[in-house]
Amino acid sequence: MSLPKAEQKVRAKIKINGIVQGVGFRPFIYRLAKKYQLFGWVLNSVKGVEIEVEGKQKLIEDFYLAIEEQAPPLARIKEKALNFTSELLDYDDFLIKRSNSNGEERVLITPDVAICDDCRAEMKDRGDRRYNYPFINCTNCGPRFTIIEGTPYDRPLTTMKEFNMCSNCQDEYNTPLDRRFHAQPNACEKCGPSVKLLNSKGDIIEGAPIKKTTELLLDGKIVAIKGLGGYHLACDATKPKAVRRLRKIKHRPSKPLAVMAKNLEVIEKICDLDKIEVEELTSPAAPIVLLETKQITDVNFKVANEVNPDTDKLGMMLPYTPIHELLLTDELPLIVLTSANLSGQPLMTSSKEVYNKLDVKIDAILANDRQIANRVDDSVVYKLGDEMVPIRRSRGYVPFPIRMDMEAEKNILACGAQQKNTFALVREQNIFLSQHIGNLNNLATYNFYQESINKLQYLLQVNPEVVVTDLHPDYLSTRYGKILDSIELVEVQHHQAHIASCMVEHQLDEEVIGVAFDGTGYGLDEEVWGGEFFVGGLDSLERVGHLEYVPLPGGEVSVKNPYRMAFSYLYHHFEDIGIELAKKFLPDLEQTERQIIKAQIEEKINTPLTSSMGRLFAAVSALLGICTVTDYTGQAAIKLESIIKPQVNECYNFAITEQGIIKTESLWAEMIVDLESGIAKEKIATKFHNTVVEFTLDLVGRLSKEYNFNKIVLSGGVMQNRYLVKKLKKGAKGVLDLYFHEKVPPNDGGLALGQAVIGSKKLND
Ligand SMILES: [Zn+2]
Ligand SMILES: [Zn+2]
Ligand SMILES: [Zn+2]
Repeated sequence: MSLPKAEQKVRAKIKINGIVQGVGFRPFIYRLAKKYQLFGWVLNSVKGVEIEVEGKQKLIEDFYLAIEEQAPPLARIKEKALNFTSELLDYDDFLIKRSNSNGEERVLITPDVAICDDCRAEMKDRGDRRYNYPFINCTNCGPRFTIIEGTPYDRPLTTMKEFNMCSNCQDEYNTPLDRRFHAQPNACEKCGPSVKLLNSKGDIIEGAPIKKTTELLLDGKIVAIKGLGGYHLACDATKPKAVRRLRKIKHRPSKPLAVMAKNLEVIEKICDLDKIEVEELTSPAAPIVLLETKQITDVNFKVANEVNPDTDKLGMMLPYTPIHELLLTDELPLIVLTSANLSGQPLMTSSKEVYNKLDVKIDAILANDRQIANRVDDSVVYKLGDEMVPIRRSRGYVPFPIRMDMEAEKNILACGAQQKNTFALVREQNIFLSQHIGNLNNLATYNFYQESINKLQYLLQVNPEVVVTDLHPDYLSTRYGKILDSIELVEVQHHQAHIASCMVEHQLDEEVIGVAFDGTGYGLDEEVWGGEFFVGGLDSLERVGHLEYVPLPGGEVSVKNPYRMAFSYLYHHFEDIGIELAKKFLPDLEQTERQIIKAQIEEKINTPLTSSMGRLFAAVSALLGICTVTDYTGQAAIKLESIIKPQVNECYNFAITEQGIIKTESLWAEMIVDLESGIAKEKIATKFHNTVVEFTLDLVGRLSKEYNFNKIVLSGGVMQNRYLVKKLKKGAKGVLDLYFHEKVPPNDGGLALGQAVIGSKKLND
């Protein structure tokens, strides 16, 4: 059959797949079809967007190209296809047809989107019918994942189904050229959700709820505020007393709290900001961005020290919902905004939970009647060089997939880690990493984990045929994976998964050198790994070096109490002299405990060996008296990094054996000498960091020569240390290619991605 000529009228079917629903795609297609004088229709189906057009072939081809070139800002086209047919149906108009829910589910679900400039302007316009309306949204912004209950993305399958649109809203919804055409959460004061302010007894507080909330916060009160993905606790960030009280309510003694600022100008007053950070703060995802703080002179902008006692970095974000936008004012430019659950528990979504689960009463609750279908925490990122690195990938990013180079032959569930858990579902080339779930060791979080797996499987229509777990037999995620007994099981070593997670981000399906510096992970030899060097490909990573083993007396108790780890190192390297040094430098370690630990180590009672880099950092932090006891993961290393003096270039000695074992005896001996001769802790901490950089580059250099690979992949929680990774990059420049995370966290929040890709690779081979 010969192709129709350019001027001849033809019919074409176009299919587009990717993020094309809930982003204003169909009105865009409608306008484009009118422009190119094409008739036919566009339809949201479970496979994506389907278009049928009739017109001149040349115009159809131009139309097809324009789809990609001019797509709406939030759309992401993954695949598109064009097929001509000569049989004409003689359409006489272009229509937007109703969603079609037949066929296989293939659509990608959009993450939640921060309020757009148009909606913000309307909300502040006295003449607009949505003046001050706290649920204003349009096809370019608003809730998505947090309200979706099923696909295709259509109002009856969202929590907006409770609200019947008024005639004005319905008109907007029906008008193809309107910014709210098929905006599923479309609403106004008359027909949509509303806010109410409740006191600690659950009674309504009279007055305008948001204005009143601002007043309460200015008065030093603590208010629970329902956001997109769950409840937050808020207080005025400039009031130390309020921040202290909030910490008490949340049972969170010192872990940094996030702050929301009224606008960019406010952030600029208190933090250093560059172009990349501004872009990130104002992006549709609107995450929390960790920023360096400045010396603040204006007391109105002086964030209380209690917000971030351990570090000079502040986690800042901008208002991302209309409620937040209305809440912050010139008088109240900075609020602490942190999830309203007890530390370690999942987000709360109802005011009842807020009443029942917080044991200390808060002053008020700003509730609303739009239900949350999926709980989602705020995402957290930081800048490293020219890239942003996620620490927590959640709101604004989830459930957007990460693409692999290969196509998985089977649907996969990767169960993730125990702490900072996320899980992943694999369908074809897509890996869908879940929102942040948290630490599975409490029941509420474990329930949230199971509930989220079921929900995401349903939404994405992925029925796992294979389950991938960590090797650790006691991770609840491992146990969960193992009880799904009807499906195939693949186990993946923790640090191999870390390395693979970074490889898939960079589409590296080749042999590399992997360096995983981490807290703890179950090793192939059943010891506690965490300072690991690998060579190989995605499913063939082989351990070729590591930090020397030292005892981890009592396991978890030494993770939480770094002074125990410092003792372990001292005793390991210097035996009886080490005990004397411990008496001198570790005042927290009392005689009885010291004797118990010594006995534990000698008798090997509940004392695995560890090569963990996280434990080495913690031990040094304790030796210097910087952090001897922790109340959150990574605290000892964070505090140690915070006292670095970048002008110090010296380092300590170390040794690396033929087998690639890094020996730290001289490092410890020289640190002790420095301590005893009164060298400043800041200098010792910096020299320690420099030593880690040096031995890493040394071993990586040797491996690179031996195996002839020059791609180095970095991962693991310890790699969130910016000084360390910057120095490694600098040291490797021009010799080795270093790859680091840009899409998923280096910590266990990214682990499921690595599990998923190793699982896919093993199945495909
Ligand atoms: Zn908008
Ligand atoms: Zn309305
Ligand atoms: Zn890990």
